[in-house]
Amino acid sequence: MNNQTPVIDIKGIGEKTQKLFQKLNIYTVGDLLAHYPRDYETFKEPVMIQDAVPGEICAVRVCVVGIPNLKKIRSLNILNVNVRDASGGMQLTFFNMPFMKNLLKSGGFYIFRGLVQTRGPVKIMEQPKLYSQEDYSKQMQFIQPRYALTKGLTNQSIQKAVKQALTFYEFEQEYYPEEIMSRYQLMPYREAICNMHFPLDYDTMLLARRRIVFDEFFTFLILLQKNKDVNTNIPNLFPMKDVEEISRFLNNMPFQLTKAQSKVWEEINSDLSGAYSMNRLVQGDVGSGKTIVAVLALLKCVCNGYQGAMMAPTEVLATQHYETICEYVEKYDLSFRPALLVGSMTAKEKRSVYAKIESGEVNLVIGTHALIQDKVNYHSLALVITDEQHRFGVRQREKLADKGMTPHVLVMSATPIPRTLAIILYGDLHISVIDELPANRLPIKNCVVNTSYRPKAYEFIAKQVAMGRQAYVICPMVEEGELEEAENVMDYAQKLRAALPSSLVIEPLHGKMKPAEKNHIMEAFGKGQIHVLVSTTVIEVGINVPNATVMMVENAERFGLAQLHQLRGRVGRGAFQSYCIFISSNEKKETIQRLEILNKSNDGFFIASEDLKLRGPGDLFGIRQSGEFAFRIGDIYSDASLLKDAAEAVEQLLRRDPELKYKENQLLQQHLSSSFSNTVDFRTI
Ligand code: ADP
Ligand code: MG
Repeated sequence: MNNQTPVIDIKGIGEKTQKLFQKLNIYTVGDLLAHYPRDYETFKEPVMIQDAVPGEICAVRVCVVGIPNLKKIRSLNILNVNVRDASGGMQLTFFNMPFMKNLLKSGGFYIFRGLVQTRGPVKIMEQPKLYSQEDYSKQMQFIQPRYALTKGLTNQSIQKAVKQALTFYEFEQEYYPEEIMSRYQLMPYREAICNMHFPLDYDTMLLARRRIVFDEFFTFLILLQKNKDVNTNIPNLFPMKDVEEISRFLNNMPFQLTKAQSKVWEEINSDLSGAYSMNRLVQGDVGSGKTIVAVLALLKCVCNGYQGAMMAPTEVLATQHYETICEYVEKYDLSFRPALLVGSMTAKEKRSVYAKIESGEVNLVIGTHALIQDKVNYHSLALVITDEQHRFGVRQREKLADKGMTPHVLVMSATPIPRTLAIILYGDLHISVIDELPANRLPIKNCVVNTSYRPKAYEFIAKQVAMGRQAYVICPMVEEGELEEAENVMDYAQKLRAALPSSLVIEPLHGKMKPAEKNHIMEAFGKGQIHVLVSTTVIEVGINVPNATVMMVENAERFGLAQLHQLRGRVGRGAFQSYCIFISSNEKKETIQRLEILNKSNDGFFIASEDLKLRGPGDLFGIRQSGEFAFRIGDIYSDASLLKDAAEAVEQLLRRDPELKYKENQLLQQHLSSSFSNTVDFRTI
């Protein structure tokens, strides 16, 4: 068994299970082994009922009081069981498990494990798991991996498959040279993979994770270095003159550029006219107004007789940019002849756009990445802009270079990164920063509350809609079953329809929908035809609907603060007062403390650094700060020192042996060429 072996070759996986694995993007044994747990579960000693904290999972050792009460409501069997220990009582509820009634004897002692909740003053557990003393003691000796799931695939079945795979997998030899292994004290590859899935103990898991994260960073940075060589000091083949149309547009625009926008525009402007091809990153917090700066650059480009392209990570965002630009063309009589190019268009539509790009009839193409870079022959492409996912910029530059083109490249990102890390991660780019928000904004009003606040929040949303505004509600999951105990978009939309006045139009939106469907819903929301959008974080990047004034986030504790900050950035974009409601479904002190940071500040950079201070080693999983870099488990903030180590390792290695020709680097060379696309996951969303 090796990386390429299909999962169906694993014992116990048939066609049906194979399909489920495919839903998780697991096709091969290599994919399976890289499906790292999203966190780990340790079974701690049972606690006394009075010490069981609502919102946490724990075990209690209790005595059953009285006879369990079995009710039937429609097709649902509900079994209520009262239990107690020396410190107090608790109620357990089981759904559709009538057999439990006979299993649990009044006066008998059992261990139950589950999520502690409250119903009024009473502590409850729903669907807890039952253990014998002996079973429970056994469980306590292991750290259990918990994987991201999909409906129909249990944690247990993934564990089993991984165990099988690990048994028969032919591990490749350790590929780092001895020198790197010892200088950075890395755990050997084989040991690391095994311990990621089934750690010996907590400390060993951390060491394993350290090795895997180092790998991710190292691979990413070595690719970056290679690009840097290709990208620096390319002569400017598309020198651009200043044009009158830009000043006319600037004068007619409904607002004035902020100082920061003007400064960044000047930097871009002089690149476009300079001796070398532009290779620049614009970094600016959400809502700082990056789009308009991009539009200016594109306008200069087309006015000079060239073509421009603008790429976005999602169809929704691309469509939005297209519409913004069409609006500008009409209102301000600009020289753009734009076309949209997205996957959901018919083949015929696409062919027609391709032809117009090739002939030069279209001078600005806006779309998603693959379409723009792979299939299109340009007439005179001089400027490529990548929004919200700048690492595509690097790749796509390489692709364009392969096609014999060297346009100016501008990438735009809202990810706030400290200077020292920016130099490592954006090493191949010049950096411009928009460090100021437009002045006309009312600060967003925030609150962090628990789930009991929901009815009030719904009332509030209804009121805002009555005033003509719109709202977003964010849930962590698409449908039931991916993760336990978190809200999902499909069920939630139903729930909201029941809770809000029936005149409100409420629609779900998530990443598993077909692009055309997503576009359709987003468009309707943009036009105000949908009042409440219940969505996963697909709307996190870039969406601009200034009429939306409420952002409500369910299970806020499951998101990284930077991500919550991005989500919050979807409101407060117009002249209306906007509100952000973070609902936390646990009341742990650390969770509240973390979310309070958002209350205190609206500055993405401050938020990311404060978040880091509060995070302990136990928080390494599950929370992703920046989707932009698409590391599977590495986190540029909390793993910053490892990132620096990896940067140093890459630099020293390439300085000595730039082409990895030395004998001791042969295995590494082979590993890199076979696994670039696996380790660095440049996915589209
Ligand atoms: P982001 O930087 O998050 O991509 P956008 O470019 O989408 O932000 O801009 C957010 C909103 O702010 C848009 O509605 C845009 O028209 C508006 N905007 C941009 N620049 C200014 C400005 N200087 N003054 C007022 N509003 C602005
Ligand atoms: Mg944007």
